[in-house]
Amino acid sequence: MKKIIANIKMNQTPIQSRDYLINMISRFDNSKNVELTLCLPYTSLSIGRLLLDDTGIKLGAQNLSEEECGSYTGEISGGMLKCAGVDTVIVGHSERRVKFKENNKQINKKIKVALKNGLGVILCVGESLAEKNTLKTLETLKTQIEEALKGLYENELERVTISYEPIWAIGSGKNATVREIEYGVKAIRKVIEDDFSLKAAKEICVLYGGSVNNKNIHAITHAKGVNGALIGGASLEEGGFSNLISLV
Ligand code: PEP
Repeated sequence: MKKIIANIKMNQTPIQSRDYLINMISRFDNSKNVELTLCLPYTSLSIGRLLLDDTGIKLGAQNLSEEECGSYTGEISGGMLKCAGVDTVIVGHSERRVKFKENNKQINKKIKVALKNGLGVILCVGESLAEKNTLKTLETLKTQIEEALKGLYENELERVTISYEPIWAIGSGKNATVREIEYGVKAIRKVIEDDFSLKAAKEICVLYGGSVNNKNIHAITHAKGVNGALIGGASLEEGGFSNLISLV
């Protein structure tokens, strides 16, 4: 079973999401051995919940607050997402790390709040181009994972997926090579082995994200240690996206 996550980002009004979902549902082949989660904008979650019910496609969100509730104007809590029918939430996407200055400590709190509220988590990690060029990929991945998962119990990792997303590959049209992906994914599993156990390292679900398209998806999702893909740009074209999924 391969896991595919669509990150719709800040696109689609609720009406656009409705049309997108109707199209996706009619084209999604449940028998394809793909677990599909669509991470919609907050304002499209209610239409997502309504339309995705009983389709086998899961509802996801793109972020949550690190606080449980209270005076945090404009924030969305884990409990709110759970009540909105969300199954899984993305945490630590590089756009949040870079553009909204989210740090690993906040990401750690967000993961704990998400798990406490019964949500699954997709933790995004990945190096910048400067880190890649100065051979700091492993160091970056280790720090991001260790700080994000600090204080978690091993059994909680069942609800955590890690997505390896080199920042330079996101939205750039320049995906990492299979070799680079296998190198990053192996490093991620090694950190899990060192901090938790070999069993956890083998069992944790690890995805790749960054300019996945119909030409590279098959090779990427079949790279060693890779359990699926997180897809941004290419998930927006409903016809193209269902075609992409059929190539997994
Ligand atoms: C992403 O936003 O996480 C992502 C992988 O985007 P894209 O597929 O557009 O590179």
